[in-house]
Amino acid sequence: MFQEAIQNYLHSHHYSRIDLKAVLFDMDGVLFDSMKNHAVAWQEAMKQYGMHMTREEAYLHEGRTGAGTINIISQRERGHQANEQEIKEIYKTKSDIFNALSKAEPMEGAYEVLRKIKDEGIIPVIVTGSGQLSLLDKLNHYFPQIFKKELMVTAFDVKYGKPNPEPYLMALQKAHINACEAIVVENAPLGVRAGVAAGIFTVALNTGPLPDKALLDEGADLLFPSMQAFNESWDTLYQTFKNCHAG
Ligand code: MG
Repeated sequence: MFQEAIQNYLHSHHYSRIDLKAVLFDMDGVLFDSMKNHAVAWQEAMKQYGMHMTREEAYLHEGRTGAGTINIISQRERGHQANEQEIKEIYKTKSDIFNALSKAEPMEGAYEVLRKIKDEGIIPVIVTGSGQLSLLDKLNHYFPQIFKKELMVTAFDVKYGKPNPEPYLMALQKAHINACEAIVVENAPLGVRAGVAAGIFTVALNTGPLPDKALLDEGADLLFPSMQAFNESWDTLYQTFKNCHAG
């Protein structure tokens, strides 16, 4: 199954092999079981500004920057985009609600697979639409000695954010590697779209309430039902990357 997915990728991108040097990880819904809290916080914050947003919408828009999500909902609910001040206030309200909820736990299997990847000499890179100021502290707390500040792409780095390929292309740049030397690990449809548009082999983890189809339709090369399943398959997958050449 892995071999077929890799062969398909190699053929459609005209690469001879994937020489894995970095794994580009999305954060929410991949490394942290945080999407439930984000969905609640989004719904509640928008309500405080008189706008209706369902929890499912939070999953559908997941990956966008805060400003991107706010503008889409504002356009629909009020017929115009939010101004800069409003965006700041709404995003702060959303962050305050999120921070008041019980802390999201790391995803089961996340630290284990990060350790294996790091021990192979492969670089783990964070690519998130999140704009939390304490991101690196949080990552270092739960996943000690895995990530480096200079190898992170956050809301502060990007102009467009996901689903634009920009954040993933920026991650390749920061790691000084090409698209065929990395894979993306994503849980959100728009994140998968961004990884695929960047020309990178994209692994989807379906850790939320959306159907698998939502991720496969965006072009995911492989799909796992959980981070733990990805962790358990990692050794086999990595060997397959090493041995698989375009035939
Ligand atoms: Mg995510």
